[in-house]
Amino acid sequence: MLYINGEWIETENKMDVINPATAEIIKTISIGGQLETKEAITKAKEAFKTWKKTTGNDRSTYLKEVVRLMKEKATKMAEIITKENGKPLADAKSEVAGAIGYLEWYAEEAKRIYGDTLPASQPDKHLMVIKEPVGVCAAITPWNFPLSMVTRKIAPALAAGCTVVLKPAPATPLSAIMVFDCFHEAGLPKGVVNLVIGPAEEIGNEMTSNPNVRKVTFTGSTKVGKMLLRDSVATVKKISMELGGHAPLIVFDDADIDQAVEGVMMSKFKNSGQTCISTNRIYVAENIADEFGEKLAEKTSRLRVGNGTENGIDVGPLINKDALKKVEEQVQDAKTHNGKILCGGKTFEIDNVNGCFYEPTVIQNANENMRIATEETFGPIAPIFTFKGEEEVIERANHGTYGLAAYCYTKDIGRGFRVMRELEYGIVGINDPAPIVIQAPFGGVKESGMGKEGGKYGLDEYLEEKYVSIHAT
Ligand code: ADP
Repeated sequence: MLYINGEWIETENKMDVINPATAEIIKTISIGGQLETKEAITKAKEAFKTWKKTTGNDRSTYLKEVVRLMKEKATKMAEIITKENGKPLADAKSEVAGAIGYLEWYAEEAKRIYGDTLPASQPDKHLMVIKEPVGVCAAITPWNFPLSMVTRKIAPALAAGCTVVLKPAPATPLSAIMVFDCFHEAGLPKGVVNLVIGPAEEIGNEMTSNPNVRKVTFTGSTKVGKMLLRDSVATVKKISMELGGHAPLIVFDDADIDQAVEGVMMSKFKNSGQTCISTNRIYVAENIADEFGEKLAEKTSRLRVGNGTENGIDVGPLINKDALKKVEEQVQDAKTHNGKILCGGKTFEIDNVNGCFYEPTVIQNANENMRIATEETFGPIAPIFTFKGEEEVIERANHGTYGLAAYCYTKDIGRGFRVMRELEYGIVGINDPAPIVIQAPFGGVKESGMGKEGGKYGLDEYLEEKYVSIHAT
């Protein structure tokens, strides 16, 4: 289903949406391509002419109505997320709350877009800076947070006065459709928000080459992000990129080991390890590594794997067979490089169910020769590396091309600050495995991306500064 200029559109071409826990078809939906994307961009441009002139209060009112409608449909939305993404229902519910949170936050911020006046260099001049919306924004979102990634982009865009064309991930379009249902019901003016579902490359090419798109905002892999960046150069678009990560988590020997184990459980196995801030490398001080490994394996082996709709499930399926294959290959590779499997280590079969499950796995003795040391895992695999000294571990933690999130466990506050300053990452959690909140800037450095989402920083990404000098005597 496409949503263009305030109308739901059916097409001849269809796509199945599959439940990764059961391999069943959840729904068959219409898709569109280059033509539909172009049309959506044209309509978004027309709508921008009037949407940009609305007051912050007006935009706030619209967004608050979307919030009200999403709260009404929250349970249904969580069920849809679990069906198309696989994550346990409790996690889906917190995603819905987060998604609504972004809309609520930016409904408030829409009223607080301030400019500046500047001191002039001569008495008869008056200088000011006003903030203006960027224009038509093309948003591309991933499947791992199919609802909250949509609102984290669209809410600040609308608050700023931009109009939007969204392309959600083909694996999880139903969450996006539900948000657009709310936009429709809230009575957003025609063309302000548009939804195009279909072949990624075709839609992406139109988005990046069309001069009417003034901003591209993307969350996904570094590989695709680089292509979009390259293709956006010709028309010099404003860009936000939330790309891959390979988060280190360092446990010093002065840390509270149980707290650090809990931290790994949360930052590694949530969403089956399929988040870009998931811990990928656990660096544990050599003298506590055995104890840490034992405790982590003990807790990990108690996690319940299964269909996210069932009660008490901790870890759902991976998104598809390719994801499962990648995890299998990484574990196999770790074994051939002397990795010791403390628990898990194989696919997880459920009788009569054709899902993409993998056992939560702890690998002791991890080393830099393993693929898992540099390649993003996106699965429930916890490799434990050991280290001797602070400088050494910082250098190893900073190794590689990614720079999204990093974690550190220590009870020494001085060490916590030192390490935090040295880590080349956009997000750092000290004794905190879950640092993400709506008011904070989410984003990476190095090849993890550019630009921030969340809080006041997220709004700036959709605004331009216009400098005005008035000569008036
Ligand atoms: P992942 O490997 O996590 O699926 P991707 O970067 O492939 O990450 O996907 C993230 C989003 O980017 C999805 O919406 C996907 O459809 C989209 N995408 C993938 N390839 C392209 C492309 N060539 N142009 C535009 N969007 C793309």
